Amino acid sequence: MIHLDQVNKWYGAYHALVDVSESIGRGEVVVVCGPSGSGKSTLIRTLNRLEAIQSGQIQIDGQDIHRKGLDVNAFRSGIGFVFQQFNLFPHLTALQNCTLAPLRLRGLRPAVAHEEALSLLDRVGLAHKAHAYPSELSGGQQQRVAIARALAMQPPLMLFDEPTSALDPEMVGEVLQVMRALAKDGMTMVCVTHEMGFAREVADRVLFMDQGRVLERATPQEFFAQPQHPRAQQFLADIR
Ligand code: ATP
Ligand code: MG
Repeated sequence: MIHLDQVNKWYGAYHALVDVSESIGRGEVVVVCGPSGSGKSTLIRTLNRLEAIQSGQIQIDGQDIHRKGLDVNAFRSGIGFVFQQFNLFPHLTALQNCTLAPLRLRGLRPAVAHEEALSLLDRVGLAHKAHAYPSELSGGQQQRVAIARALAMQPPLMLFDEPTSALDPEMVGEVLQVMRALAKDGMTMVCVTHEMGFAREVADRVLFMDQGRVLERATPQEFFAQPQHPRAQQFLADIR
């Protein structure tokens, strides 16, 4: 589904992604980990064109997503992206946050968008908060609304960049639970996360990055039991 071929990215003189080649299959759950500044966010942001690349190619479902002339807004709206900061629209209720894009971009009738959004909020355990504003929700609840909002565009692919890092510890579990359920339903997911328990349990594959390179790719069983690269060994030792 996703093919990266020799992808390079620079921020000015800084080489942020170095010859990254990777394939991710439909339904696969990939966890990206590595030290701060290793290029995890940069990598995930190139997958929905929030960042440009300078060489190489990224294909999603056979389309070169960095080609000139791509309708970037349409493309981006078809990929679910969940950040560390929830970025809900503060003046809209949970339900309205979830109906906004489908109404505008999928051309749904209001009643249909409404019904779909309610069912998504139900899926993340928040049907009872449909009419609450973001300021009336806990961090974990806001992040679950953000996931429901992303799902409302029926994306074939969901990207997560440290979705639980801004949460109080007691709210991490509820968000991971929603992500776990999504994975079980067969969603293709690329997740940057420090939640190694989640990686162990849910990931099909772990990518370890350092200094803009993918240094190791392995199943979680292999990665956690026998990391091959010295930097991966060091990383795991540091977070344990
Ligand atoms: P963290 O775990 O701290 O989120 P990360 O692995 O996500 O780190 P990135 O945010 O991808 O790392 O950053 C990779 C490198 O690129 C870092 O050295 C960072 O300083 C640099 N970088 C990121 N964004 C920019 C930018 N907009 N301009 C210049 N340099 C940038
Ligand atoms: Mg990051």
